[in-house]
Amino acid sequence: MRGAVGGPRVLLRRLREVMAEPVSAQERLNKIVVLIAANMVAEVCSVYVLRVDGTLELYASEGLNPDAVHVTVLRQDEGLVGLVSSEAKSLNLSDAQHHPAFSFRPETGEEIYHSFLGVPVLRAGNTLGVLVVQNRAHRNYSEEEEEALQTTAMVLAETIASGELSALAKPGLEPAAHRPLQLTGLSISDGIGLGHAVLHEPRVVVTTLIADDPKKELQRLDAALNTLRADLDLLLERRDVADAGEHREVLEAYRMFAHDRGWMHKMHEAVATGLTAEAAVERVQSDNRARMMRQTDPYLRERLHDLDDLANRLMRQLVGRDHAPPREELPDNAILVARAMGPAALLDYDRKKLRALVLEEGGPTSHVSIVARALGIAAVGQIANATGIIDPGDAIIVDGTMGHVHVRPTADVEKAYADRVRLRARRQAQYAELRDKPSVTKDGEKISLLLNAGLLVDLPHIDETGAAGIGLFRTELQFMVAASLPRAAEQLGLYRQVLDAADDRPVTFRTLDIGGDKVLPYMRFEEEENPALGWRAIRLGLDRPGLLRSQIRALLDAAAERELRIMFPMVTTVDEFDQAKSFVERELTHLRRHGHRLPERVHVGVMVEVPALLFQLDELLARVDFLSIGSNDLAQFIFAADRSNTHLAGRFDPISAPMLRVLKMIVDKAGAVGKPVTLCGELASQPIGALALIAIGYRALSLSASSVGPVKAMVLELDAKKAAAAVAPLLSGTDRKVTVRATLEAFATAEGLQL
Ligand code: PEP
Ligand code: MG
Repeated sequence: MRGAVGGPRVLLRRLREVMAEPVSAQERLNKIVVLIAANMVAEVCSVYVLRVDGTLELYASEGLNPDAVHVTVLRQDEGLVGLVSSEAKSLNLSDAQHHPAFSFRPETGEEIYHSFLGVPVLRAGNTLGVLVVQNRAHRNYSEEEEEALQTTAMVLAETIASGELSALAKPGLEPAAHRPLQLTGLSISDGIGLGHAVLHEPRVVVTTLIADDPKKELQRLDAALNTLRADLDLLLERRDVADAGEHREVLEAYRMFAHDRGWMHKMHEAVATGLTAEAAVERVQSDNRARMMRQTDPYLRERLHDLDDLANRLMRQLVGRDHAPPREELPDNAILVARAMGPAALLDYDRKKLRALVLEEGGPTSHVSIVARALGIAAVGQIANATGIIDPGDAIIVDGTMGHVHVRPTADVEKAYADRVRLRARRQAQYAELRDKPSVTKDGEKISLLLNAGLLVDLPHIDETGAAGIGLFRTELQFMVAASLPRAAEQLGLYRQVLDAADDRPVTFRTLDIGGDKVLPYMRFEEEENPALGWRAIRLGLDRPGLLRSQIRALLDAAAERELRIMFPMVTTVDEFDQAKSFVERELTHLRRHGHRLPERVHVGVMVEVPALLFQLDELLARVDFLSIGSNDLAQFIFAADRSNTHLAGRFDPISAPMLRVLKMIVDKAGAVGKPVTLCGELASQPIGALALIAIGYRALSLSASSVGPVKAMVLELDAKKAAAAVAPLLSGTDRKVTVRATLEAFATAEGLQL
């Protein structure tokens, strides 16, 4: 077998010398291909660089016709080189010309070469180009040779990423390493953020790729691996992860990978070719990331993610320090980029400097998303390999409304967004002007606009928006963002701060609504077949009275000598309400007996979310002090359509006769007996939803902070009687030719309302 002359280590050493020489970029590339060809006893060695337009340009070649350099350009779906690039995988062929993807370019003179070994030039999982060697004979390149070429490609990746090749490119056709990208993910928090990337956990930048003493590097790698394994064993023994649960499963997967022979072998091989231990970890990690980006099976993707995490841990072990950035050094207009992030970590950053968040994982219901929305920063999730594609300091635009992330945007994209941001700011300024205006329709109907809240960071919104109070305080959010169960004193502290911030404005606290999709990381829940219909909210509260009791006690204590409003989520029967209310009475008795100051008055209400309650309204209304409609859940159950299933989003319109008839029945019945009703689901947060609700008789709506302005602007221009008259025939009649939504849209246009 023909082997590499002097082996890969000699090649790497020579490459290091070439990298250090003060020559032009082209000369350097020319020297590199000559070195590789000689070392691998190949007749051809070529470098193709991926350009911003997505094509591959021949940048240097030993063996092919020199006139083809900077002339031959291949599409990514063209030829063997295109295949290596698009699949980010090596191709090793002894008879290249019979491969179905082979494409012949006469200007290169490559028809005489039969064998082909091509490897992708990868950096953090991204393809930057392709490195190829070719031989005239039908040669079988060995695994070691393939390995050596991949190692060489890593060195080349640094040259391409350094930007020094841009000088060789025609304008607009520069190397793609820094090309503008538009990535599409999942919108998790509305808004637009412009700024520069900050990696939540910055990549360790490996500066020394080539080893001086490979034996020592092997020892370093093995020592780091051993420490990593021992750390994982220790973590798994710890009591707080000793129980089964997701955390433990993840750690067990890590431990399995940490002992994986394939992974170890690949890193050993990379060191054997002459890389430092860090560079070897990075090379194997980069291959893994490239696979991860192309993997569509969610389970396998998750496992590749685990392996990526493990490689990060190993890397930190090798460099011997934690690379988390000091939070106080966050630059202005920071766009935070992370694989995944806990809610507490996000809260650690300086809100004033944060513009947006980009996550590789994270859906709209994830805890970090809840915090992002509460903080009012734009956020997009599900951007594959964001931490690999985006370099620290890159210019980024996050469009949280559309779910787009523009990385290194072109000037025209930047301008378009800057215009949109200015427009939004102008609109916000207009809404701010409405802040102190009473929320009354043109025909004199008072519409109470309240806030949906749940975290301390929500509290400034009361004054900012001029809301009439808090219509829904989701107490579970404090539990969801905490690392462990909040103690009674912590709950009491939060509730007191909320009441203080609201001053004399009413606050309605909802007791813990956990279970379903609202999981607490530190509490074990059995997996359920139908979590939305499962052991959640008040069901769990009544079965585990300790939790509910201590929460109610904290609420009563916090509201000493003030008014308190408590409501229970997911109540299904009148009996459940009676039981829950008896908790309040028992705790009041307890506090009275122990000499605590009591609330001035306690209003106890129910969230209407389960259709069964619709058939018990008379009995219920006789018992409760107020009702609040959770239209998110109520619509989910009325339409039998999972609220988080994206395939069903938009399929059933809540602004339609069936849902509005239900909502009208509730408000009518409550009105008849003089009990207040608020609606606190998302429906109230859209101006058209609010319009529909006012048209059927609702006078109190609880909304997200960003919706108060737009809804109030609509209310001030509205004639409620006219709206009621427009909708009434559609709810009572059988005319199905026009929809309620279309009718309301036409009404809004005719009346000059902004929806
Ligand atoms: C609802 O279901 O409409 C509601 C307000 O509660 P949540 O969205 O927290 O379930
Ligand atoms: Mg609900």
